[in-house]
Amino acid sequence: MSALNVEEIVKKVMSELNNVNSLKECEHGIFESMNDAIEASFIAQRKYLKHSLSDRDKYIKAIKNEFYKEENLKKICKMTVEETGMGNYSHKLLKNRLVLEKTPGVEDLKTDAYTGDNGLTLVELSPYGVIGSITPTTNPTETILCNTIGMLAAGNSIVFSPHPRAKEVSLFTIKLINKALKEAKAPDNLVVTLKNPTIENANIMMNHEKVKLLVATGGPGVVKSVLSTGKKAIGAGAGNPPAVVDETADIEKAAKDIVDGCSFDNNLPCIAEKEVIAVDEITDYLIFNMKKNGAYEIKDKETLNNLQNLVLSKDLKLNTECVGKSARYLLDKIGIQVEDDIKVIIMETDKNHPFVIEELMMPILPIVRVKDVDEAIELSIEVEHGNRHTAIMHSKNIDKLSKMAKLIQTTIFVKNGPSYSGIGVGGEGYTTFTIAGPTGEGLTSAKTFARKRRCVLVDGFDIR
Ligand code: NAD
Repeated sequence: MSALNVEEIVKKVMSELNNVNSLKECEHGIFESMNDAIEASFIAQRKYLKHSLSDRDKYIKAIKNEFYKEENLKKICKMTVEETGMGNYSHKLLKNRLVLEKTPGVEDLKTDAYTGDNGLTLVELSPYGVIGSITPTTNPTETILCNTIGMLAAGNSIVFSPHPRAKEVSLFTIKLINKALKEAKAPDNLVVTLKNPTIENANIMMNHEKVKLLVATGGPGVVKSVLSTGKKAIGAGAGNPPAVVDETADIEKAAKDIVDGCSFDNNLPCIAEKEVIAVDEITDYLIFNMKKNGAYEIKDKETLNNLQNLVLSKDLKLNTECVGKSARYLLDKIGIQVEDDIKVIIMETDKNHPFVIEELMMPILPIVRVKDVDEAIELSIEVEHGNRHTAIMHSKNIDKLSKMAKLIQTTIFVKNGPSYSGIGVGGEGYTTFTIAGPTGEGLTSAKTFARKRRCVLVDGFDIR
């Protein structure tokens, strides 16, 4: 090692130590400055490297147990609805419970091994280091919990940059995570955030050299931002999931599944049905059955215009006041009073209507009538906008199910069920609230947040 190298290393270590000393006091992982949060996270991850897999498992179980407590689970759901003004309290309970029950932990990290005359080679999943995770307003606590489980399982520390509009509940969730980690004797600051999360601070995080992986869960803007940093980034972006119904489907069931999926958490999930494309032959019967299952149909142009003026501006910007609101609330705003059993507002539109094109995140479901299933599949691809996110199809025709699955190229394709079965509610498989279509990781889990590293032992440990 040259003298210069030794000098450089000493300088680096001293500067890291100085940073440790200059860190402001922080409580429960909540920092005043982004740089301090990242430095603390960096040190925490270095310490975490010395902890075993069973330690990681223990810390994750401690976090889950903290949130399995009814008072905590109820509190984060109540806070989310109150702070963001969006979503449905009982569905938020279900979503958060789902995360605790179905997010994979350390068992997700599988090793590959090659053995032969030349010995043994392992390919192991090891941590990136500090991960910067940007979380949305639509599933704030679900995303923080789910990412925390997967990222800690893979041996990382995490700096969260939550949506400013879900700040209070995000900070409260991170405090509870820290409480659980402290009680389980994990290193301090494995999961940190800022007292005042802003887009400016998110940008500092994105460009900090000690953040080795960025994970953005949100709309197209933030996904583009992380992908422009030159760092490894996972982008979980917007969707506009179409639900196709053809003449072979079980129409009664399809109608109920679509209403249930579309109204889940007032349509906030990125996977929720956002438009229906139905074959002409069964459209009337589908609408009839949707109405039997909690859909309110708008038939006249004036009411439809009133609804459009309420939820979209002239230049088609979303009225954020309406995002994640119930069907009853939205109808009331345009002078129509209904009971709570109305879960979705439906209407027939043409394929170019803004309700079909825009991702509304409200229980408003346009229905487009087409002549046959091939036209339905073609249109579904068009209105999904190449997001490669989620699509749903109700059909008994295996050839057409396969055709749509193959052509639409979505990360999630649900056949004959509500959209949420794609994330493990009444469907097989684990769950996640970070679905990475744009960058291709798919439904993220611990293994997504790990680097592949090869470890080679020459001429040994081959026992065949
Ligand atoms: P959003 O894009 O407004 O915000 C998401 C996060 O990104 C927030 O923390 C926000 O502060 C931050 N952000 C936004 N623009 C940024 C920028 N230019 N630079 C840095 N940070 C920025 O999204 P939202 O309203 O919170 O969530 C709804 C959107 O997210 C929908 O489009 C939905 O489909 C999508 N979503 C996708 C997934 C998925 O897994 N694919 C999950 C949830 C939400």
